Amino acid sequence: MSDPLVGRMRGFGTTIFAEMSALAVRTGAINLGQGFPDEGGPASVLERAVEAVRAGDNQYPPGIGIPELRRAVSEQRLARYGQAYDPDTEVLVTVGATEAIASAVLALAGPGDEVIAFEPFYDSYAATVALAGARIVPVTLRPDSGRFTFDPDELRRAVTARTKAVIVNSPHNPCGTVFTADELRFVAGICVEHDLTAITDEVYEYLTFDDAAHLPLASFPGMRERTVTISSAGKTFSVTGWKTGWVCAPEPYIQAVRTVKQFLTYVGAAPWQHAVAHGLRHELGWVEALRASLQAKRDRLSAGLESAGFTVHRPQGTYFVQADPRPLGHEDGEAFARALPGLAGVVCIPTGVFYAEPARGRHYVRFAFCKKDEVIDEAVARLRHGL
Ligand SMILES: *Cc1c(COP(=O)(O)O)cnc(C)c1O
Repeated sequence: MSDPLVGRMRGFGTTIFAEMSALAVRTGAINLGQGFPDEGGPASVLERAVEAVRAGDNQYPPGIGIPELRRAVSEQRLARYGQAYDPDTEVLVTVGATEAIASAVLALAGPGDEVIAFEPFYDSYAATVALAGARIVPVTLRPDSGRFTFDPDELRRAVTARTKAVIVNSPHNPCGTVFTADELRFVAGICVEHDLTAITDEVYEYLTFDDAAHLPLASFPGMRERTVTISSAGKTFSVTGWKTGWVCAPEPYIQAVRTVKQFLTYVGAAPWQHAVAHGLRHELGWVEALRASLQAKRDRLSAGLESAGFTVHRPQGTYFVQADPRPLGHEDGEAFARALPGLAGVVCIPTGVFYAEPARGRHYVRFAFCKKDEVIDEAVARLRHGL
């Protein structure tokens, strides 16, 4: 039978995450590939979800999300960043950040349009831009004095008359970059000058290290009215399986995104919304402890990878570290990642898959450190021994 998949989705077959996780299971390797924590969220948040189920919050919630969660998101944005969003008209609850991104892209871009994204990028960006029939235009992040950043001229050159939107992910997966005020001011200037919409992916907003601080792009001059801000509970509360996210934006954008969202999923699951509202209101202290613990895990894994012979790019945020296996004699990240379970019993992700042109990222592999210390230590011991 010929491939029934529509042409624009060819090339988006099985994701590398599924493939590498299956490889980990098959070989008994330690999985530092996919970025999910191996410890659960705050007890009171988990308890609140159970309570919501028992209390009968099991039918369709309002399409825009339950009022408690919209109010909690609005309060969180105000308290943390000084941004005011009306919980009744400027906040929309979605099925994770993934649905928010897909709905925003499908609502704002169509055939012939272009969407700029910093490369390497989270895999759903290219797929949703393709679903929209639009074209993704990458601006490559490259290492510069210890962190990955972009060349301002390259961003300027990427804008054409067809550009509709720029997707900005900070803290950045997979590079771990937290964009500085100067970088964001430059992006904002480009958006204002060319009348572009910014779609921000801020799912790691709490997970920044050392003196790096997350700054929302929408808080820069001229940006509130043109930014669709997206975040999610998954990474903040270590509940990646709950798929509860949100959009904050001016009302016309919320209406546009909601128009698409209602036909993708109609609504998100009700019980999690109660639990996440509780978390945003009462468990940000737990999140700070998670942040500190991830910073220590970053240091633990980075030092371990260095001792095993990798060149390591220490991230300023997120769950991930970029490592370069060239000092170990491995030039190609994808071949290396496929061989690593056999060589050392560890699974990582070849970063090339996050690039529009995989060759541009072929030297890097991504390791996740959102794992128990003993798992990180065992992985490091295996790498030191096996490589
Ligand atoms: C994990 C992740 C997401 C997905 O968030 P969900 O809320 O699980 O949909 C989106 N963007 C980035 C950069 C991520 O790492």
